[in-house]
This record gives sequence, C-alpha cells and structure tokens, in this order.
Amino acid sequence: MSPDANELQELVRELHRQGTAWVPSGLGSRLDWGAPLRDCTPVSCARLRGIVEHNPGDFTISVRAGTPLLEVQAALAPHRQWLAVDQPWGSRRLGAGSVGGLVARGLAGGYRQRYLGIRDQLIGLSLLRADGTAAKAGGRVVKNVAGYDLMRLFCGSWGSLGLITELNLRTLPLPPIRRGLLVQGSLNELGSLSQWLLGSSLSPERLDWWSAPLAAAAGLEAAPLLLIALASISAASLDQQQAAMAAQTPLPLRRLETEALDHLLAHARGEDSSAGDGEARTEPAWLLRLGVSPDQVPEALASPELQGLASELAAGSGLGLAWSLAAGSGDLEPEGVQRLRQLCQRLGGWLTVLRQPPGSSALPAWGDAPARLMIERVKRQFDPKLQLAPGRLPGVASA
Ligand SMILES: Cc1cc2nc3c(=O)[nH]c(=O)nc-3n(C[C@H](O)[C@H](O)[C@H](O)COP(=O)(O)OP(=O)(O)OC[C@H]3O[C@@H](n4cnc5c(N)ncnc54)[C@H](O)[C@@H]3O)c2cc1C
Repeated sequence: MSPDANELQELVRELHRQGTAWVPSGLGSRLDWGAPLRDCTPVSCARLRGIVEHNPGDFTISVRAGTPLLEVQAALAPHRQWLAVDQPWGSRRLGAGSVGGLVARGLAGGYRQRYLGIRDQLIGLSLLRADGTAAKAGGRVVKNVAGYDLMRLFCGSWGSLGLITELNLRTLPLPPIRRGLLVQGSLNELGSLSQWLLGSSLSPERLDWWSAPLAAAAGLEAAPLLLIALASISAASLDQQQAAMAAQTPLPLRRLETEALDHLLAHARGEDSSAGDGEARTEPAWLLRLGVSPDQVPEALASPELQGLASELAAGSGLGLAWSLAAGSGDLEPEGVQRLRQLCQRLGGWLTVLRQPPGSSALPAWGDAPARLMIERVKRQFDPKLQLAPGRLPGVASA
C-alpha cells in the first residue's frame, strides 16, 4: 500500500481496527534485511515526499519521511551544507533509500567517528502510532525542551514501534576540502597508528579498518588497511595533519582526493560502473552487522572467522559490516557465522545477520539480547496488538 499524506492516518486507523499486521516501509530498498518478517503488509512512505522547510541560517531541515536521502543532500549542497551520514551500504545497487528508513534503521557508518550517529543529527520527528494517533517528539530547533526522548527510541526501531511521517534534522557545513589516506601494514603497526590518532587532537572524518579481503577486492594489496578521511577549511591544515601522521608511523601514507576515495569505496563494495555483470553486481550472500570493543578490532581482524570476508570496522566505535565476496550461497557456512558471532561476543560485542543465503539453515538474525524483556515491554506499550513488523524484534512473543 502506498497512501498519500491525506490517506495515511485513516489507513493506519483502519488497519488497527481490523488488527491487520503491517510494516512501515520507506522506499522498500532493504525491507527484507534483518530478522524475517512474518506475513504482513508493507505501508510505503514513497508518497510522503519532499522538503518541508530548510533553514540554512539555523542549520536545520524538515523533510517528509519518504524523501530520498540523495534528494535531501542535493537540496542542501547549493547551500554548502549536508546531512553528515554515509551513503548507506549498497546504495549504488539498491538506492540510498529514504530519510525515514535511514532513521528507522539507525545506522550511520564511518562518518560517525567525527559527526556522531544519525540519532545525534535528529532534532525532532512526527509519527503515527499503531492505532493511528499522531504524535510529535523533539522539536524543530537544535535546543529542545527536556522530556522522554521518544525520537531516539525511534532511531533503530526497524518499523516496529510506529510510522515516522516527518523528521527535523541538523545540517552541517560541507567541509571545503577533503582528503583520504590509505595505510597498509601489519595489524600491530596499524593498531599503533589508530590508537595514536584516536587519542590525538586531530579529528578525522572517518578512521576505518578494512580486512585484507576487502583491500584485495578494491584492487589493493591483500593486507589490512586503515582508511583515514580528513576534512578541513585549508589544504595547509590537511598537509599538517598528514605530516603529523607520517611522523608517527614508518608505513607509507597513500593520498587520495575525494573523488578517488569515493570510487575506491564503491569498487571495494562491488558497486562501481566498471564492474562487470558477474559476481561484483550480485548481492552478497551474507551481510553481517557486527561490533567489538574498539581496542579489540585488530584481534577480530586477525581471526580465521573474518579471513574470508570483506569487512569494514570503524576504529573509534568498533562497529561495522562484513559480507561474503563470493556470489551465490558463498563459501561461508552458517556454522562459520555462528563462530564469528561467538568471537564478537568474546571481544565485547555482538553480531546481527542482515542477509543470509535463502535455504541456509536460517541463523537467528539477533544473538542473545539481554534487553529482551525491556524490548518486549516497550513494544507492547507502543503496539499493544503486536501488529507492526511482526518477527523483527528479538524477544517479542507473537500476539
Ligand atoms: C553506512 C550505512 C550502512 C547501512 N547499512 C545497512 C544495512 O546493512 N542494512 C540495512 O537494512 N540498512 C542499512 N543502512 C540503513 C539504510 O540506509 C536504510 O535501511 C535505507 O536507507 C532505508 O531505505 P528505504 O527507505 O528503502 O527503507 P526500507 O528498506 O523500506 O525500510 C528499512 C527499515 O526502516 C523501516 N522504515 C522505513 N521507513 C519507515 C518509516 N517512515 N517509519 C518507520 N519505520 C520505517 C522499515 O520498517 C525497515 O525496517 C545503512 C545506513 C548507513 C548510513
């Protein structure tokens, strides 16, 4: 169903009266990722589209939930502003999706290192509760009144608590100059550089670890890699930062300008236009979201469990993605993913399965969630008939 703004509230009320199971959807690009949904109807936000208000002087923007992320970035660019989030993984194949979907998933990517997560960019939202009641949380300005922080609860709610209709977000000035630096070497050498950088006064936009297979997929040497992205108002400042890093490591720093960096990222993810029609364009059989304690990233990358996977992990948070490189069912068995999950848990983290090959002996999307009881209570508070996104959250019993 794809209602327009005038039809939406009545539709949600009707679904509630009938007790129909449904799931809020943005543009439907990644709806099937994560724990499988039980039979339910997608309610698309594709017709809730457009920028409601952009206030360049206040660095705020209000958008309808179904507005494509790319449309928002394009509207902000002439004002030299942007939403400080990464292109979602898989954007060139699947599209970047809507802003509502981005917030509902709550994932920000490597830019989180400098700009924090999407929940920190959000200053307010409007939503429809499961019974169709309209509600608002937060506001339109960066300073807000205190109260229950409902809007951050909706970040990463995966469509299970209500339907977001409009969002107010903080914008940031676009950095005038950007530069990427690639460093390859042993995990120890890269670990020292990363530790130093995280403790230094330099504030890279991103500081991402790549596994050796990801570096190889990007056409580089098959060795672990640190991707450092810098931004500044002057080239001289970038030169100084680069020199400070060079003084800390014997490893060569390879410099890439913004366009080349974007190209490399796309190439590594099998998304660039030069990729042929073969494996590079196929969706990976496995896509995993994982996290470990930031100081344990080198240990995770050294493990046999990550050897066959492309993975990128942010150095500051220890969060990232891993995916299989081979097409089809891939060379990864569910037991291998289960071992990887145990490893992440041992290293202070977790693993969530976003995609797995159909027909594999379905691995639970979520690992053990200690907050299950809390999740279930919140869910029942917002959606007493358990209509929304059935099956998606861990620990929520069926109606
Ligand atoms: C670096 C990075 C990596 C990412 N990696 C992944 C990833 O691996 N997997 C992934 O799924 N996403 C990922 N995301 C998030 C991704 O951006 C969004 O899932 C996607 O952009 C949403 O696209 P869509 O509009 O087509 O939403 P859909 O694919 O239609 O929906 C995505 C999710 O959001 C919910 N949703 C959508 N719109 C609303 C709404 N208006 N109200 C309430 N809930 C809603 C849906 O129920 C569903 O759970 C990533 C984002 C970034 C920045």
